[in-house]
Amino acid sequence: MRLSRFFLPLLKETPSEAQIVSHRLMLRAGMLRQEAAGIYAWLPLGHRVLRKIEEIVRQEMDRAGAVELLMPTLQLADLWRESGRYDDYGAEMLRITDRHERELLYGPTNEEMITEIFRAYVRSYKALPLNLYHIQWKFRDEQRPRFGVMRGREFLMKDAYSFDLDEAGGKAAYNRMFVAYLRTFARMGLKAIPMQAESGPIGGELSHEFIVLAQTGESAVYLDRRILDLPIPDETVDYGSDLAGVVADWTGRFYAATEDVHDPSRFEARTPEDDRVTARGIEVGQTFFFGDKYSKPMKAVVSGPDGVERPAQMGSYGIGVSRLLGAIIEASHDEAGIIWPEPVAPFGVGIVSLRPGDPAVDAACEKAYDALTAAGKEPLYDDTDDRPGAKFAAMDLIGLPWQLIIGPRGLAEGQVELKRRATGERQSVSLARALEIVGA
Ligand code: ATP
Ligand code: MG
Repeated sequence: MRLSRFFLPLLKETPSEAQIVSHRLMLRAGMLRQEAAGIYAWLPLGHRVLRKIEEIVRQEMDRAGAVELLMPTLQLADLWRESGRYDDYGAEMLRITDRHERELLYGPTNEEMITEIFRAYVRSYKALPLNLYHIQWKFRDEQRPRFGVMRGREFLMKDAYSFDLDEAGGKAAYNRMFVAYLRTFARMGLKAIPMQAESGPIGGELSHEFIVLAQTGESAVYLDRRILDLPIPDETVDYGSDLAGVVADWTGRFYAATEDVHDPSRFEARTPEDDRVTARGIEVGQTFFFGDKYSKPMKAVVSGPDGVERPAQMGSYGIGVSRLLGAIIEASHDEAGIIWPEPVAPFGVGIVSLRPGDPAVDAACEKAYDALTAAGKEPLYDDTDDRPGAKFAAMDLIGLPWQLIIGPRGLAEGQVELKRRATGERQSVSLARALEIVGA
């Protein structure tokens, strides 16, 4: 992408309404525009990151055996009357009436709808285990939308739903999602700690929140420092095997709980004083096993090998895809701007032309652009007439992993400059060498 043809409306001033660093940086870097309280337009730079995050989530869901579909944002109120949640959900639910006076709602979550789809088609244990997911916009009329994408009203969520014949099958499904979550967040450069949690309006007894530690997090959390060093299963993990051991490692060895379920005496009994951490955290995902909470009232039944029908055993598994942008920035930035972890960076390399119009500089930039594009590095080529100082500041602000700086003086000596955003480290090398270093 050539910057002169892109749409990157950077802000010079720090927007006063933004209280936390991720919100400030997303607005300044031209990623996001607020259209109403808690409702945002995703500008091109923000949209590229959103798509990268979505794709990692999708790959790890697919790897764990979940199957993607897409449910609508609007749902019939009657569906929610079947589960009893239409009245319970309260003011957070956006209720809509159509021209025929039919009551609809903008989905805050999809347990009811997926249960309706399941019961329409599945009757036998032979179709199980089954896990269906989608990545779709949700609406919750939050009382206090704030912190940009962290607590929006409209937000993008991945939600998966598992169906099994019995509790043992349901727990195995839960374990697969648990492991997929460990992998998903790690691939984005995040340390997300699963913590015992309350299940809230979703229901059920077994639930974990996946929490990224950050000073600006909304909830207080208590953990044993040693949990931070547990290994993440790699991509060879076998989702056909029993994963209970991995889950037990993460949930049974070290204390980690959110404030809602925190038990100070248990924390102190289990954790040596030096390892006790009290911190704040951002919830980036939550897993629930709730058995027949929806399948029973909604009559989603399956027959087992014995021919006996019973309500399916269900779980649900959410990831805050749009919230993750904020969480990643909170975890990875400096004074100058964002520092994107490579896998979610909107572009892989920024090419900074120090003198557009200079034939040698233009030729070198074009050559770099073509090579990087061909290698799938998705370069952003700053071919504008801005001053070098402004170009450097913009590149630091938008946080691409590498900057390739090309000017007439360097080129005269056969050199370009390559800067690593994360460390600030710079090196003067030949263009060929620079391309080699960044993997083109
Ligand atoms: P919270 O406690 O933060 O309000 P929740 O527990 O109500 O979230 P879930 O129903 O568990 O949310 O939804 C799954 C995921 O969706 C959450 O883990 C979170 O990452 C994300 N999420 C929930 N509410 C919002 C919101 N208002 N804005 C952005 N992301 C959200
Ligand atoms: Mg939650």
